[in-house]
Amino acid sequence: MIGRLMRWLDASTCNFMAVKTICGELDKAGFTRLDVRDSWQIEPGGKYYVVKNDSAVFAFVVGMQSPAESGFRIISSHSDSPCLKIKPNAEIYGEGGVVSLNVEKYGGGILYTWFDRPLSISGRVMTKGDDALNPRTLMVDLQCPVCTIPHLAIHFNREVNEGNKLSVQKDMKPVIGCFSDEEIAAFKARGGVVKSLVAERLGIAPEDIIDYELCLYPVAPAVLTGAGKEFLQSGRIDDLSMAFASLEALLAECGNESESTRVMAVFDNEETGSGTKQGAHSPVLREILERVCRKLTPEDPEAFFRAVASSFMISADDAHAWNPNYNEKYDPTNHPHIGHGPAVKINANCKYMTDADGAAVFRALCDEAGVNCQYFVNHSDVAGGSTLGNILTGQLDLRGVDMGAPIWAMHSAVETASVRDHIDTVAVFRKFFS
Ligand code: ZN
Repeated sequence: MIGRLMRWLDASTCNFMAVKTICGELDKAGFTRLDVRDSWQIEPGGKYYVVKNDSAVFAFVVGMQSPAESGFRIISSHSDSPCLKIKPNAEIYGEGGVVSLNVEKYGGGILYTWFDRPLSISGRVMTKGDDALNPRTLMVDLQCPVCTIPHLAIHFNREVNEGNKLSVQKDMKPVIGCFSDEEIAAFKARGGVVKSLVAERLGIAPEDIIDYELCLYPVAPAVLTGAGKEFLQSGRIDDLSMAFASLEALLAECGNESESTRVMAVFDNEETGSGTKQGAHSPVLREILERVCRKLTPEDPEAFFRAVASSFMISADDAHAWNPNYNEKYDPTNHPHIGHGPAVKINANCKYMTDADGAAVFRALCDEAGVNCQYFVNHSDVAGGSTLGNILTGQLDLRGVDMGAPIWAMHSAVETASVRDHIDTVAVFRKFFS
C-alpha cells in the first residue's frame, strides 16, 4: 500500500497531475466519468466521478438506498500544495546567457526549502481549440530537472543562519539555463524557454500554446527513511496523502454494497483560501449531491435536504506531528505523535469543524477499525491554521470532523509522514466507507 502511495505522489507533481492520477485509478476501477453539461444517467450501486477545472475531482458510489434515507458519507481533501508558479513572459535574460524565471508564490510554503534543489515543471497548457470559447487543454510534466534556485553563498551574508528574510521577487527566481546568443535568439523567436521546453515535451509547436498554468516542483521522488523505514518523505504530502488515503479506501470498498452514497471530494485551492470555482467555498460539491438526489428521487422535493441532514463528512487534511526540537510550540497535553494514528483537530474558536459530536463519530470509527486516535489542539498562544471543514459547512449543512495524519514540516518542499499512519488512516476511511 505504501508503494502505491509513493508512486501516486511521484506522478502527482501538481494539482492537475494529482487529479489526472486519481482519474486514471477511477477509470481502471470502472468508474464512469460524468460531464456537468450532459444529462446524467445514474443508478443505485453505480460508480461515477466528476472533474472540475482539471484540478478538482468528485467520485461517488451511489448507495443501494436513496440518499434521503441513508445520506452521504463524504471524505474531503485537497489537490493543491504550496509551490512557485511561473508567470507569463517568464524569462529574464541575464548576463552571460543566464536565464531566470519570473515566478510567484502559490500558498504559504517554507521558502528556503526550495533553494538548491533540482526542480522540474508541470501543469496545464491551453492550445487552440474548435473556437475561441473552447481552447484545448493539455497536461504536461517535464519529469526531469530543468531549474534550480541558487542560494547566496554564506561569504556574502555571514548572518544567514541568524535568520534570513526572503523576497520571492528578488531571491527566488529559478535559473533555467545558460545559453549562447544564438540559442537565446532562437528561444525568443519560439516564445521563450518555458514554452519551447513544454512544446517539445508535448510534441506541439510553441506558438500553439495560448496560455499556461505551470508550477515548479522538486523532482526528488518519495522515499522511506528512518532506521526502520518508518517515515515517508515526499513533496506534496499535505494534502495528497489524505486524498490518496480516501482514494485507496474508496477503491477497496466500492465493490461492497452500501446503503449510503459514498463520496470522495478532492478540492483545489485550499492553500489560497478555497475561494475559486473548484474550491471548497464554491457550490461545486453541493450541486453534484443535489443533482444525484434529484435524479434518483425526482418525486421527492425534500430528498436533498433529508440526505444532507443524515450525512457525515470527514474533512481530511494533514495535522502537525510533535517535533522533538520544538516542544514549546505544541499544546502540553494534545500533540499527536508521528506513527501513533490519525489526529482529530480541535479549535475553541472553530477554525476546525470538529465538535464533540464529530469527534465522537471519528473516535468510534477508529475503535471499530482497531486504530489509535489522537488529538491535535493548538498551543493556546499559537494561532495555527485552518482547513476545508468549516468552509464547506457554508455550502452544506453537514455534521463532520476535521482530522489528518500527523506530519512534520508542513508546507516544506519535502514533508515527512509515517508509513503506519497512512495504513491506519486508510483503515479508518475503509470503515467509514464500508
Ligand atoms: Zn492541507
